[in-house]
Amino acid sequence: MASPDDVLIEAGALRRAVSSIFGAAGCTTEEAERIAEHLVGANLAGHDSHGVVRVPRYVEWLGKGYLVAGQVAQVVTDGGAFVVMDGGFGFGQTVAQQAVKLGIERASANGSCIVALRNAGHIGRVGDYSERAIEAGLLSIHFVNVAGSVLVAPFGGVDRRFSTAPFSVGVPLEGRPVVLDFATSHVAEGKVLVASNGGKPLPPNALIGPDGQMSGDPHVLYGDYPPVGPRDAGKGLGAIRAFGDHKGSGLAMICELLAGAFTAGGTAGPVEERARIANGMLSIYLSPKHFGTDAEFQRVGRGYVEWVKSTRPADPSLPVLVPGEPEAGTRTARLRDGVPLPSAVWQSIQDAAQSVGLNTPLA
Ligand code: NAD
Repeated sequence: MASPDDVLIEAGALRRAVSSIFGAAGCTTEEAERIAEHLVGANLAGHDSHGVVRVPRYVEWLGKGYLVAGQVAQVVTDGGAFVVMDGGFGFGQTVAQQAVKLGIERASANGSCIVALRNAGHIGRVGDYSERAIEAGLLSIHFVNVAGSVLVAPFGGVDRRFSTAPFSVGVPLEGRPVVLDFATSHVAEGKVLVASNGGKPLPPNALIGPDGQMSGDPHVLYGDYPPVGPRDAGKGLGAIRAFGDHKGSGLAMICELLAGAFTAGGTAGPVEERARIANGMLSIYLSPKHFGTDAEFQRVGRGYVEWVKSTRPADPSLPVLVPGEPEAGTRTARLRDGVPLPSAVWQSIQDAAQSVGLNTPLA
């Protein structure tokens, strides 16, 4: 829902603006467009936390050498049915797409494939990768962590021990795809970023202060900050809470162990002098056609999802949705009406454009 303070930008114009910034920052046109497509795609899906709000931070990371333009993910181990890849700190939108493409190709040929990716720059909205697998008719499961980014307190704890470690599953039911995709933190860090920029406020129990008190105030994570500009989670004394009490906290730990320790990309912490953060992702791709269960899977799966949706809504004005439906609905609305951005976010993108020498006003 757009607020009166938002600017509303047509998706294509926003993509061109973002692409021009990464082009001016040193990316090839192809890579700049890929980054823009992914970020605007996250806004279209309603995940503003993983959309263009990230532009200033990516530009800053590129300038400092934390992110490397034009990187190609390298195959470190090739076991046929499984592959280990190193993203070399390239843009996540580039190296994760390469890893996902390989996983999809192998699973489409052989029935399954496991891809362990490490040292990827921020890969953004993980559901994007589940959707790519769905387009190829594949099931996919993605465990993700953020090596070197310790932001989340485990269940019962106050001090940070996890990254926001997202998890995603894509289920390719024809006409009724299911895309589960969430951070294992109570809120994604980007949602704290959006709230600190004047966007949607946080729930009052999203964060935990150093005194063990719950809070919805972004200062708990970022300390003092100006109304517009980069945020530094290293400056706050508190943490984001893990979601779902002991169960969500357990899943976060599993994401750290599978996507961080197992891929050899590293866990959230302990953090000493690590210059940059990086995503790790362990992905499993399965082809229902190869398993020989596709017809039954489609018939029973679709019927089951419809049955789930047919439960009586607790609030008659709110239909029962399945994972992936909110994103599809928001995408339709925002493609039609434009992408709403808090004016502070739009200003920070314009500032990022100027910082890379783009002095003409963005569209
Ligand atoms: P969220 O809390 O909005 O949950 C999203 C999930 O819940 C989706 O699967 C959605 O379809 C489903 N959902 C939402 N409302 C629903 C409803 N009413 N009924 C049924 N299902 C519903 O997501 P989040 O935790 O804020 O994560 C946001 C994004 O951040 C995700 O795309 C995630 O991949 C991304 N993320 C990325 C990183 C990274 O390091 N790259 C880290 C953390 C999060």
